[in-house]
Amino acid sequence: MDHFVHRSLISKSETALMQDKATSLLNTVFGYTEFRHHQQTIIQQLIDGNDAVVLMPTGGGKSLCYQIPSLVRDGTGIVISPLIALMQDQVVALQQLGVNAAYLNSSLDAKSAQNIEQQLLRGELDLLYVAPERLMTNHFLGLLNRIKIALFAIDEAHCVSQWGHDFRPDYIQLSVLHTHFPAIPRIALTATADGPTRREIIQRLALEKAELFVSGFDRPNIRYHIAQNQGNARNELLQFIQNEHANDAGIVYCLSRKKVEQIADWLTEKGLTALPYHAGLSTQVRQQHQQRFLNEDGIIIVATIAFGMGIDKPDVRFVAHLNLPKSIEAYYQETGRAGRDGLAATAWMMYGLQDVIMLRQMMDNSDADAIHKRIEQHKLQSMLGFCELTTCRRQALLKYFDDHLDKPCGNCDTCLNPVESWNATEISQKALSCAYKTGQRFGVSYLVDVLLGKDTERIRQFQHHKTSVYGIGKELDAKQWRSIFRQLIARNLFSVDVEGHGNLRLTEQCRSVLRGEESLMLRKETKQTKQSRQTGKSTFNIHNSDKVLWEALREHRKALASERNVPPFVIFHDATLMEIVEKKPQTQQQFSMLTGVGEKKLQSYGDTFISIVQQHLTANTSTKSTTDTQEETLQLFKSGLNIPEIASHRNLKPATIYGHLANSIQQGEIKLEQVVNLTINEISLVQNTFLDLPENDRKLKSVYEALDGQFDYGLLQCIKASIEGYT
Ligand code: ADP
Ligand code: ZN
Repeated sequence: MDHFVHRSLISKSETALMQDKATSLLNTVFGYTEFRHHQQTIIQQLIDGNDAVVLMPTGGGKSLCYQIPSLVRDGTGIVISPLIALMQDQVVALQQLGVNAAYLNSSLDAKSAQNIEQQLLRGELDLLYVAPERLMTNHFLGLLNRIKIALFAIDEAHCVSQWGHDFRPDYIQLSVLHTHFPAIPRIALTATADGPTRREIIQRLALEKAELFVSGFDRPNIRYHIAQNQGNARNELLQFIQNEHANDAGIVYCLSRKKVEQIADWLTEKGLTALPYHAGLSTQVRQQHQQRFLNEDGIIIVATIAFGMGIDKPDVRFVAHLNLPKSIEAYYQETGRAGRDGLAATAWMMYGLQDVIMLRQMMDNSDADAIHKRIEQHKLQSMLGFCELTTCRRQALLKYFDDHLDKPCGNCDTCLNPVESWNATEISQKALSCAYKTGQRFGVSYLVDVLLGKDTERIRQFQHHKTSVYGIGKELDAKQWRSIFRQLIARNLFSVDVEGHGNLRLTEQCRSVLRGEESLMLRKETKQTKQSRQTGKSTFNIHNSDKVLWEALREHRKALASERNVPPFVIFHDATLMEIVEKKPQTQQQFSMLTGVGEKKLQSYGDTFISIVQQHLTANTSTKSTTDTQEETLQLFKSGLNIPEIASHRNLKPATIYGHLANSIQQGEIKLEQVVNLTINEISLVQNTFLDLPENDRKLKSVYEALDGQFDYGLLQCIKASIEGYT
């Protein structure tokens, strides 16, 4: 690609020219029509030779902010990125777009690395990704001195912050870039953006003069859902996946390696493809699981939080937490790995009393110095508060990042299933007194037993059946009491002992509640609420008649991807395939208008995808005469042939024959009973199952599964037709 000259030499009209150039690259290379968020201004800022600090949510489009200026400006754009996997993905994707990109990291052998260095010295690279530790070597700084540098991009810039949760010592060194290369524009990018992290980035990287760009942090396509673990988290998880994300790719986070293994085994037992990922596995196994996650459809990774930071998979449809993240930043970051492509996704979490107790203890016990301990505790407290909210989660989340949402979002659990709160002052006083009167030396289970007036040996041993608090809490059951204790710990009215016995102590904060000066509103715990259906823009709003086309496109994409040894989404995102289904482009010109199709991809893939569309259209026109082929089936059926016979006679699949007959049933040409050989009871069972579903959502699959696969799809289709014939 041709480049423009350095800013010191350019005039006003040249600036305008460069802006045109940026827009035209957006179109021709990346295949997008418009810039998003602040992309255009940020790009301009760098083209002009100035610095920028960019805070943009995951999936917001940070990469373009340095990729385009690297192409426009003279020289090579140097991108510092902390993770090898992430570099490789980006480079592969750029190469697919026809951009000369490469990376240098420890995964390369000496010869390949040397080769890349040569390309760099010859000025052949538009972009070079490097790991921070390599960048700081004398050797590499020496190379940089000999080439033209377009810009420095510091990706995942929050790694420089000790306040943040991904601190990397190597990042601190990056401030020398400014000292060594003061004239080269720098851009620091992150998706984490609480105030302290933001300030640390600016200070440590000496970016005080940089313009700050903050985009909204909302991820509207992510549905937040947090539920209380009442001892059945595993089952709840399974149901969540089966009901809302069958066949989708997702990540399940657990705290320990052991739990990771258990959950992965268990999901696998239930017929899902779930792969473990944690530091205890060999590099080879980890890599293999990661590759499958990227390259195959519908893989679930069960992982410790170590997984995911370097993974840029756009079509992760859910992120599930079986443990509480340590902070809201971590929660936002981890859940942010869902739905990068902008299509509907879910962030699901289960947490319970045990998590609260464990995390409290872990923090108290940590080796961190007093300041960091206080920071950690403060963060955990915010996270707990977030879990116990009775108001919109998204509003709270955004507020935490100094962002703002006017109205409740309508796409989180508290919006969808409003939580009732109740005045729990008196009940809380009972819980607090119970702990106090028994000497602040017991854990939740014991305290609940005392409140309920249980007759146990331990209680008698301690003589607590004689205290005034014995049996004063019979109006609630044990489960409800546990929920009360969880909320009181979460609100810091109780502290948990450091020794690890889970003993509860009263905190300073509980005074006003005990004295009745402050009334306490707590969540009314409901039975596990049924999740309502996903209302957001659905992933696959594809018409029945287009399913075949959709599948054909996916098949083709998969074939291309494995030929090139890249993940399918590097060829095209789901969103592009959906657009193909919707618009059915038949010419190169039409194809080039699709989102995500630039010149290179048009040239590489246009023809084959277009021809798939054309085949589909021809096949559909020939079924224009559906009536004819349906009529033929009907006649054969009337002449006494059964379905397998008609199928073999006509050289069609039985499913197709069922389809024809179902149409005939719906149109009243034959009766259901003539086609299906079922008892009245069986038929009404199936009919009722259909009728229980909302009218516009009576999927064969749902009924098939609801009835445990007792009835074949063909039969279901005919029975469904019989219902539709009436309505
Ligand atoms: P981030 O690094 O901020 O998480 P990416 O740079 O990976 O986000 O971009 C997320 C997705 O959005 C990518 O698939 C990218 O190609 C796409 N994208 C970025 N900018 C635009 C744009 N202006 N128009 C359409 N899609 C875009
Ligand atoms: Zn909401």
